[in-house]
Amino acid sequence: MDLEKPKENNIAFIDSQNLHFGTIKCDMCAILLAKNIRDMELADCSCGQAWEVDLAKFYIYLKENYQVNNA
Ligand SMILES: [Zn+2]
Repeated sequence: MDLEKPKENNIAFIDSQNLHFGTIKCDMCAILLAKNIRDMELADCSCGQAWEVDLAKFYIYLKENYQVNNA
């Protein structure tokens, strides 16, 4: 996995309604399952892209991997 060159469309989707759960949903599996990503549950992701996160660590992750300066 090459995290140094993230694609233009970030594959990590943060559902703001579920942000307090610290869950990142998987748009790839949403497409595969033909589900709206907002209806995706963590368990619906079979590729491991969706994950539960510690938000503080998540922001560090974003900064390290995506050079996010506005987080
Ligand atoms: Zn997935």
